[in-house]
Amino acid sequence: MNLILLGPPGAGKGTQAQHLVETRGMIQLSTGDMLRAAKDSGSEMGRIVADVMARGDLVTDEIVIGLIREKLQGDKAGGFIFDGFPRTLAQADALADLLEEQGEVLDAVIELRVDDETLIRRIVNRAEEAAAAGHPVRADDNEGAVRHRLTEYYRKTAPLIGYYHAKGQLVAVDGLGEIEDVKAAIAAVLDK
Ligand code: ADP
Repeated sequence: MNLILLGPPGAGKGTQAQHLVETRGMIQLSTGDMLRAAKDSGSEMGRIVADVMARGDLVTDEIVIGLIREKLQGDKAGGFIFDGFPRTLAQADALADLLEEQGEVLDAVIELRVDDETLIRRIVNRAEEAAAAGHPVRADDNEGAVRHRLTEYYRKTAPLIGYYHAKGQLVAVDGLGEIEDVKAAIAAVLDK
């Protein structure tokens, strides 16, 4: 089973992906996590993407498609959860090609729906809690960058909702409820 979790920053994609890893043995492919790991490793790619990410802009399609291509060639376990990828129509087309090359299919696209003010509040609270606990805070978890990430989402990523709807693959799930309720709603979609 291969699944895309689609939705704006702060919608809960990472939390839900982690749960699917634990309960279904799936593999989470988060391009955001991969890019942050590249940044922390001090690699050349990491240096290139650091400023782009801190502003809340998207990094180039070429870079993220390259990261995903590499992972799809590895272990497939219980299937892939694409978390934060694809984020543009070009990335969606590339993913379709990469899956086909691997003899894999996309089983579902789950759109997590959350309103803007809740998203901003969640992310800013998460950053404040991390700072108070002495944990590292993401460079893009301040209100200005979050608003820019949301603008990028509506301009470049939200068109994927229509793209996957047209393919009959999109299912919307309310992301506003308790985490446990969202887990149950996603499980209901996957076990249908
Ligand atoms: P969030 O969904 O909370 O914004 P992510 O961790 O998924 O956070 O992504 C953080 C940043 O990494 C994005 O704002 C962007 O700069 C970069 N990024 C992650 N995935 C992609 C992608 N598929 N295409 C382009 N940029 C990406």
